Amino acid sequence: MTVKGIRLRLKWALLSAVDLFGFPLKLKDRKGEVQIICFHGICADTDEYINGRFCKESAFREVLTEIKQHFHIVSLDDFLANRLHPDKLNVLITFDDGYRNNLTIAQPIIEELQIPITIFVTGRTDFPLWTDLFDIASANPSESGNILNELIAHSGVKTIKELKAWIPLQPKEVVLEINRKLNNLPETLLHKNRVFWELLSDHDLGLLQTRPLVSLANHGANHLSFVTLSDEEMTQEINEVRTRLSNIGSVYGSIFAYPYGHHTEKTIKHLSQIDMKQQHLAEYAVEDAPYLFQRMAINPFISSRNMLRIIHKGQF
Ligand SMILES: [Zn+2]
Repeated sequence: MTVKGIRLRLKWALLSAVDLFGFPLKLKDRKGEVQIICFHGICADTDEYINGRFCKESAFREVLTEIKQHFHIVSLDDFLANRLHPDKLNVLITFDDGYRNNLTIAQPIIEELQIPITIFVTGRTDFPLWTDLFDIASANPSESGNILNELIAHSGVKTIKELKAWIPLQPKEVVLEINRKLNNLPETLLHKNRVFWELLSDHDLGLLQTRPLVSLANHGANHLSFVTLSDEEMTQEINEVRTRLSNIGSVYGSIFAYPYGHHTEKTIKHLSQIDMKQQHLAEYAVEDAPYLFQRMAINPFISSRNMLRIIHKGQF
C-alpha cells in the first residue's frame, strides 16, 4: 500500500472511532453544486466480496439513507434541465455495467426510499463481462483451472493485478477472445457466483424502463476501453447501445459513461462529433468541458458516514 493509502486508511479509522461517540456530522457548504456518484453491483449481505465494485445490500441501504438525509438527490432529467437545489449539495446516483442485481436487489430499495437512479448499461446479452469472470476466477483459484496462469504466460506480465490492468489496453479482438476464454469457467462456479456477473436482459431493461425512478443510459456495447478504439469502433460501440435503449423507449442513449473511465482528448472530440450530450468519466479528467462530468465511485470498504464525508468533499 502507498503512503497516501495508509494515511487515508488511518484517517477513516479515526473518523469511524469519532462516529462511535454519536457527534453530529459536520459538512461544509457546497450549496448548489453537483456530485455524481457511481455504484456497480449490489449483492446480498451473505455474499463474500470478490471485488470492490460490489456493495452489500444493507450497506447500500444505509449509505442511500444517509445521502437522502443530508443532500438533495436529483434524477437524470433534473440534472439535464439544471433543476438543482440552490441551498444543498445535489447528488446524482449512477450505476455502471447494468448488472441484473440492479433490478432484483437495488430497485426495490430505491423504490422504498424513493430515490432516482441512472444505470449505464452495455449491449451484452450473450455472455458476461471479462472483468467479472476474471474476479470470480481469481477469487476461486482451485476451481477455475489454469486460465489465469495461461493468460499471464501469454501476456508477459508477472502478477494477476498486472494482468487485470493489461487486458483492457489490448486491441478489441484480443479482449473479446480473452472474454470468451474466461467464459469457459466451470458451470458450477459460474452458477454460485451469478450475482457477480449476470447482466440485465432486454426484458429486464423493459421492466426497469417502466419505473419512473430509473433512467437507462449508455456504457458502450462491450465495455471496451475507448482509448484502444478507432473512431469507427467507438461509434459502433455507442450506436449498438443507443439502439438497444431506444428499442425499450429510453431517451438517454446519448448520455454516456466511459468504461473504466478511460478517455483521451481524441475520444472526447469524437464523441462530441457524434452528438453525445454528456460524457461521464471516473475520478480524473484530461480536460474541462461543459459536457464532461467527473464521478466518484462508492468504496464498499469504508463506513457510510465516511463515504458521506467523501461525497461531500468531492474526493477521497
Ligand atoms: Zn463499467
